[in-house]
Amino acid sequence: MDIGQLVKHLKNQYSEFRDPYLRIRGNCVQCGNCCRSLILTYRKRPVYTMKEYEKLLRWDRLTYERFVVDDVQSESIPLTFSCKYQEGNRCSVHESRPEICKTYPHRSIFGMGAVLEESCGYRLVEKDSFEDILEKKMR
Ligand code: SF4
Ligand code: SF4
Repeated sequence: MDIGQLVKHLKNQYSEFRDPYLRIRGNCVQCGNCCRSLILTYRKRPVYTMKEYEKLLRWDRLTYERFVVDDVQSESIPLTFSCKYQEGNRCSVHESRPEICKTYPHRSIFGMGAVLEESCGYRLVEKDSFEDILEKKMR
């Protein structure tokens, strides 16, 4: 095992230790819904105000300037955004999409109350549940 593999292995072990119960299984079926009315996060909580969104822009403009805010309703409801690179259900910049898109749905978002779209091909399962074991065996 070289140093890169060792670091990867330790990272996996660490994330298993931190979150031993939930696993994401399934595949993207390209429904496109996670790129519409999406909720962004800043400092591990949803973005509620344009001020917070502007902080995201200052932090990483390249990633976040692609998002356009939908209606601003109330400061008690997270803002929702659309992406200017979505064409129909597809991503027009798929090869160069940012990390937050590549890693969707990341486990961390569920701790912030996120739920998967009904149309999503991914689902959250308990580690070592029947579904989890079956899917691992079928890979
Ligand atoms: S860059 Fe592509 S994958 Fe990311 S939100 Fe936009 S359309 Fe979706
Ligand atoms: S909601 Fe799920 S299935 Fe639909 S495009 Fe996003 S990741 Fe793929």
